[in-house]
Amino acid sequence: MQDLMPRLEPLLGQVNQPSRYLGGELNQILKPEAAYRVAFMYPDTYEIGAANLAVAILYDVLNQVADVACERVYLPWLDMQEAMRAAGIPLFSLESHAPVGDFDLFCITLPHELAATNILRALDLAGIPLCAADRGEADPLVFGGGPVSNNPAPLSAFFDGFSIGEGEEALPELAALLRDLKAKGVSRAEQLQAAAALPGFYVPGVSNPQVVVRKRIDSDWRERVRVLRPIVPYPETMADRVSVEIMRGCVRGCRFCQAGATNMPLRLRSVETIEQAVYQELAATGFDEVSLTSLSSTDHPQIVELLRRLNRQLGPVGVKVSLPSQRMDAFGVDAATAAAAGAKKGSLTFAPEAATQRLRDLINKGISRSQIESALLHAVELGWRKFKLYFMFGLPGERESDVVAIAGLCDELYQLLREALPPAERGALSISASVGLFVPKPHTPFQWCGQLPLPEARKRLTALRAAAHKLPRAVRVHWHDLEPSQIEAVLARGDAQVSQLILAAHRHGASFDAWSEQFDYGIWQKAAADCGLDLEALASHELSQDAALPWQMIGSGARPGFLQHQYQKFLTELEVGRDQ
Ligand code: SF4
Repeated sequence: MQDLMPRLEPLLGQVNQPSRYLGGELNQILKPEAAYRVAFMYPDTYEIGAANLAVAILYDVLNQVADVACERVYLPWLDMQEAMRAAGIPLFSLESHAPVGDFDLFCITLPHELAATNILRALDLAGIPLCAADRGEADPLVFGGGPVSNNPAPLSAFFDGFSIGEGEEALPELAALLRDLKAKGVSRAEQLQAAAALPGFYVPGVSNPQVVVRKRIDSDWRERVRVLRPIVPYPETMADRVSVEIMRGCVRGCRFCQAGATNMPLRLRSVETIEQAVYQELAATGFDEVSLTSLSSTDHPQIVELLRRLNRQLGPVGVKVSLPSQRMDAFGVDAATAAAAGAKKGSLTFAPEAATQRLRDLINKGISRSQIESALLHAVELGWRKFKLYFMFGLPGERESDVVAIAGLCDELYQLLREALPPAERGALSISASVGLFVPKPHTPFQWCGQLPLPEARKRLTALRAAAHKLPRAVRVHWHDLEPSQIEAVLARGDAQVSQLILAAHRHGASFDAWSEQFDYGIWQKAAADCGLDLEALASHELSQDAALPWQMIGSGARPGFLQHQYQKFLTELEVGRDQ
């Protein structure tokens, strides 16, 4: 394959963070002799993508397939894109700096909806036709997978196929199948027919839309830890640590949560298996931090024992253990404290999601006010002083008073914790609340609900802002911009017509929409006008429980009957509590 490095090198002095484009890091895998080549992209910058554990796992498993090479691709930042266009250099892989358009298969992970325009930007930079229907025999097959493939409809025009569910077994099967078909000289159309026959693959235009594609599950996940030699990036990234998954799935059943609903069944790794992975990966990388990841790490029944064992081994050699999420009770606080061991405590993060008991019950959050208070009091006792609280607003069943109550709850918690501390220590106490607009997601009990329309969202936020204004200086409430959440909602529950909107936004220059400084709502408004679509209506429309859903062909593991039952339960609870 063509090596673009000699042409890239002169550009590296003109762009920010050139180390993003070098490749050649410790533990990268090179298989120049492989007959079948896969380019695997995370549709954002190197720093964001390198931190993604799913990409690291799939890179590893694909490279284990005989005669298959998998190379990494990230979207170059805007300065590099401009320099590449001026020099006529297409999108390239990091391992061999080969043009992505020369690979056999281009896999793109779909981590969140706002990456949609980055995907088109990447295809464009690679010289691959944006629409699957326009691709020919010489173009790579383009496959997507990851959380957004739970509703592939808005992206279906751009992808030849989607992997549904976990990719650890499915993607190697796909690569091996396509490798063999390529060797036989089989046509693109026949390759797609064959891919559609594999379990867990949805191929638009080939798969029967009336037949549900059931998600794949890694049957060997519990005891087999797959990533043993993670890549060590040159530039500083969010990935400068070893990440080991300790658990998959979450049984808590929050009604808004797509990750919880679609990552079942619950699977736990044993302390011994986790320890073995941690030590092997630390030895392979030299990192001085290990993160124990899952949707809800402190729900692992042996978490405290695991942390004690890891800290006993790793504390003396200066390796820090971290937990990405805390359960809001004394057990969660104990686990976070065990993770911090004797080190200086940073901030403790919790997600109450809603400030009133009525609303927490409606979203099935399952934590009471007294649990929140006792968790924070316990944390203060153990030496924690800084707290981050995550809330959503615009939740189904919400009233303006529920949003204003976020400020009230933060204030009351602050006063409670202040009282619990001796006067000399009160100055260190702080609470920071982050508030984001709720986005209804497919495969959740709230998939039928519309998003709160922006005018009403602005009104509720104004009321919250007024209440937050009166808070003590140590209590801060921050809110995210509303417009990106509206676009996320449009893309999350969209149907095939939304692909035209994405295409129009791409043509108007949208990219890096998840970066607040790059997001341009005006572009999306222009794109919507071009397509005759109304963003507000698309985001906030309620779906009928009797109508077909755009994602009905995807079997995510969240049973439609269960989701409907939960939604009905929510409606009943809402009705019963109407006068409260
Ligand atoms: S929000 Fe957290 S606790 Fe609730 S279902 Fe999702 S992952 Fe589980």
